[in-house]
Amino acid sequence: MPDYVFAPPAVPFLPVTGSDLLFPVHRIYCVGRNFADHAVEMGHDPTREPPFFFQKNPDTLVPSGATMGYPRGTSDLHHEIELVVALKAGGEDIPEDKALDCVFGYAVGLDLTRRDLQGEAKKLGRPWEVGKAFEEAAPCSALVPASAIGHPDHGRIALTVNGAARQEGDLNQMIWKVPQVIAVLSTLFRLAPGDLIFTGTPAGVGPLQRGDRLDGSIAGVGDLQLAIA
Ligand code: MN
Repeated sequence: MPDYVFAPPAVPFLPVTGSDLLFPVHRIYCVGRNFADHAVEMGHDPTREPPFFFQKNPDTLVPSGATMGYPRGTSDLHHEIELVVALKAGGEDIPEDKALDCVFGYAVGLDLTRRDLQGEAKKLGRPWEVGKAFEEAAPCSALVPASAIGHPDHGRIALTVNGAARQEGDLNQMIWKVPQVIAVLSTLFRLAPGDLIFTGTPAGVGPLQRGDRLDGSIAGVGDLQLAIA
């Protein structure tokens, strides 16, 4: 153990369903506009875009069941329910037909977004971090191993807020499928064990208020609860 100037920060992690082992998180990648109906609601043509990516900071993960404060710096916090892919292996230039071999498991995540700050950044041609990578921006359920559930490529993905339906779609509506996302991402970054990929959200994104209770679910994967204090 080297002598650090101060104690190094704790390793972010996710629990693993059916196991006492923890999954240590390396990086968090996110796919933008990966459901056609969401691309349309954000004012884009889903047939014209290659996949694009941004990152969140791994220490912004929030476990399911948590109560978090309303984030600072925004008055337009949005929910985006997403399938999260967790990698147990990585590399560069991973072929599409080998991509699923890299997957440890899946989870239900929320790509929380300070939409007002993201919108301003888009308008000014600035980076998205202030809109996407803030404290507690990445609530995520426990991981379910692919060895238990396989690799879901269809199934209902939904979010309710205070019991009212907000987002609903099916994983089969993803424009770029999980193997394609991993393959393309690995041409741009060196993927590694511990990486998470938030794979995009269906239509129905919208604002959250203090006191809201969120329930997200993906058929065959699990569910995610979150409260805004
Ligand atoms: Mn998203």
